[in-house]
Amino acid sequence: MKILIVEDQVSTGLALSSTLTGLGHQPHLVTSGAAAWDLIDREDWRLILTDWIMADVDGLELCRRIRARRGRPYNYIIMLTCRTESVHRLEGFKAGADDFLTKPVHEEELALRLAIAERILAVQADLEEKNARLEAMAGTDPLTGLANRRRLHDVLGGAWCQVRPVTPYALVALDIDHFKSYNDSFGHAAGDEVLRTVAEILRSGTRPTDLLVRTGGEEFVIILPGMGSNEGLIVADRLRKAIAAHCWPLRPVTASFGVTVASPTAKTVKVSDLLEAADRALYHSKHSGRNRVTHSHFLPKEMSAATERDRQLAGAGLR
Ligand SMILES: [Mg+2]
Repeated sequence: MKILIVEDQVSTGLALSSTLTGLGHQPHLVTSGAAAWDLIDREDWRLILTDWIMADVDGLELCRRIRARRGRPYNYIIMLTCRTESVHRLEGFKAGADDFLTKPVHEEELALRLAIAERILAVQADLEEKNARLEAMAGTDPLTGLANRRRLHDVLGGAWCQVRPVTPYALVALDIDHFKSYNDSFGHAAGDEVLRTVAEILRSGTRPTDLLVRTGGEEFVIILPGMGSNEGLIVADRLRKAIAAHCWPLRPVTASFGVTVASPTAKTVKVSDLLEAADRALYHSKHSGRNRVTHSHFLPKEMSAATERDRQLAGAGLR
């Protein structure tokens, strides 16, 4: 495997490097702690053999820096040292070393320690992969496979995060019309099928880089990076038409849309304000007859201020 050797005595480093090559590994030698740190920060080095005593960044400091990083794969660090007293080893362990090899390094001992390192790194890689899968699952809606509200907030930086993006993005909110009555008439399994199909229509009508979210029930949010008002409206209307035109087996299904835009030039707003603006536009689409798209900029004044009343009407079954 790839092994980074950090050794300031070039002859010692070269000897170690040749031993590792002989054992079937791919060693790379750097002759200072600072150079090692620079490389570790830029590239993925899972297994590191480092000298303890070095002029600039010593082995202990290198260990501390590596362990202080967050969200990076685990690095297995073996310290090379002449110090054999347990008090020194304890210091090394505290700094983050996994193992020690006494100088001069014997080949058999080295091979043994590397076998242990490889085993631990394999277990670690397996754990990291499982964690990544769990993380993805925690951000996914199981019914539709789209992202969920948690993932939306992770991406946007949380409800209270200030929005002033470097490039604009359009935010589309949509809600399936009369979904409750669909569920009541045909049952929840049929309702779930509608949700899955709508998700599929949204997927095929957007780019892989767009974020599609089922925020709850029959509500969805789409983030369209790089798109302004016009493009956002065009995409929303295309999706609206695609849903209405789909060959629904039990009865026609439509959805109402609201569009808003986060712009680098607009005054800063909170993520929650942005979601609310799209939601207000969506309510306006519901009030004006459903199966339509409204932009938050074109809402009548009283409508923009009437969120609370709209929510009450929605609660009374207007959706
Ligand atoms: Mg040294």
